Amino acid sequence: MANNEDKFKKIIAHAKEYGFVFQSSEIYDGLAAAYDYGQYGVELKNNIKNYWWKSMVQHHENIVGIDAAIFMHPTTWKASGHIDAFNDPMIDNKDSKKRYRADVLVENHIAKIEGKIEKEVKKASKRFGENFDEQQFVSTNPRVVKYKEQIESIKNRLYSALEEERLDDVKSLIEELGIVDPISGSRNWTEVRQFNLMFSTQLGSLSEGANTIYLRPETAQGIFVNYLNVQKTGRMKIPFGIAQIGKAFRNEIVARQFIFRMREFEQMEMQFFVRPGEELKWFEYWKEQRMKWHLEMGIPQSEYRFHEHDKLAHYANAAFDIEFNFPMGFKELEGIHSRTDFDLKSHQDHSGKKIQYFDPELNDSYVPYVVETSIGVDRTFLAVLSYSYTEEKLEDGSERVVLKLPPFLAPIKAAVLPLVKKDGLPEKALEIFDGLKYDYMCFYEEKDSIGKRYRRQDAIGTPYCITVDHKTLEDNTVTIRERDTMKQERVGIDKLSEIIGAKLKFNG
Ligand code: ATP
Repeated sequence: MANNEDKFKKIIAHAKEYGFVFQSSEIYDGLAAAYDYGQYGVELKNNIKNYWWKSMVQHHENIVGIDAAIFMHPTTWKASGHIDAFNDPMIDNKDSKKRYRADVLVENHIAKIEGKIEKEVKKASKRFGENFDEQQFVSTNPRVVKYKEQIESIKNRLYSALEEERLDDVKSLIEELGIVDPISGSRNWTEVRQFNLMFSTQLGSLSEGANTIYLRPETAQGIFVNYLNVQKTGRMKIPFGIAQIGKAFRNEIVARQFIFRMREFEQMEMQFFVRPGEELKWFEYWKEQRMKWHLEMGIPQSEYRFHEHDKLAHYANAAFDIEFNFPMGFKELEGIHSRTDFDLKSHQDHSGKKIQYFDPELNDSYVPYVVETSIGVDRTFLAVLSYSYTEEKLEDGSERVVLKLPPFLAPIKAAVLPLVKKDGLPEKALEIFDGLKYDYMCFYEEKDSIGKRYRRQDAIGTPYCITVDHKTLEDNTVTIRERDTMKQERVGIDKLSEIIGAKLKFNG
């Protein structure tokens, strides 16, 4: 555990040192849960968004994109249920003065019990060796069965209390389970209260009679309210999808853990409109597609897992998360939800506009059902960054930090480096740089020893370093060094573009 925390700290420090992520308004001591992306961070982030956009919009003939405004008519949030129900139950510890999500405290307690089960399984598997039948063990071992019953009963109590808004019972549960403040160890809790996560502001000047409007807490509603516009102008036939990338805002109670939980973040969402009754088939399809998208980045399956929601939102009839093995453990990275016709129907009711699709094959009209895929850009950034961060001991005893980013996501694709700062090498290197820069994000540097320059490129994940030396002037060849193997090869300048290009392909 301590090791992972250590690794997380190193990743955060690395992200700052190499211009990926800075604390927002740092010169004023920062603003909690807001971050700025630096010169390499913005490149990585744009590449992630581009990868998603291409895979969703460009690679699907029946998905189109939009870019809706962040400000929306206030009734949108009444219709979507966010004004009434976008709450988190919070609780404060009176000693540490820290605020927590009450449900998360209970869920962490459940995770501890799950950890105990895992330990029992590990012990037994060692004891029984090859003959170990895990399925049988977990369903018959009295200790494990008891733990499972405990978990079941805690979950039932938590979710029914939340659903029925019995917040006093959530508090009783926390007390009965003996849950302590993770920082102070204290059990001195306040009551549990609901806390709406939407930021509000005023539209128009106060004297004119201002209207309260909200910063959107999800991008999805911008898609729903444009359903008719896009369907009609794009002559879209069901099934079809609308995709969007954009900022979302949530006044998160517990906003720690770097860019994992921010108050201003970015989402990539796609709503797929289908015939009623076919939503679960499409749900399965998107579950599979989205997992493929993650694996295409070269991160192995073992770092991901599906998590089925125990408690479905009021609008959903199926929901799975894709969880990633972040430095602080498996946590949600993406949600895939079958949202039924809840949103469109509700917008139809609140706006008085008919939102229906005439299905020529069925010769019938209906409000489409929706399967949504919703992923955080920043969480994807953190997943890729933390998986790529590698400390290596080299054969000569030295160490290097290398970001083994998927090459198509790397901020810089190739660094062009003159071996020395004289003899016409910089001029030649700049000529090569100019030849590549229109196709690839490149970087030129002549300062410091070549070894130091390689290390800096390793640290930002640049797949290729191209070194220009005296031989280059004679025969138009350079050395090209590959980031992960550190192998160097001598190649003709005319081959560079092809070599770099071949490394950047993805299917997605
Ligand atoms: P969590 O349970 O972690 O709060 P959520 O279930 O509320 O997340 P969704 O409403 O499903 O999240 O949002 C879709 C995606 O948006 C999430 O999977 C996550 O990647 C991203 N996301 C949500 N909240 C935040 C946040 N505060 N900071 C960064 N990304 C976020």
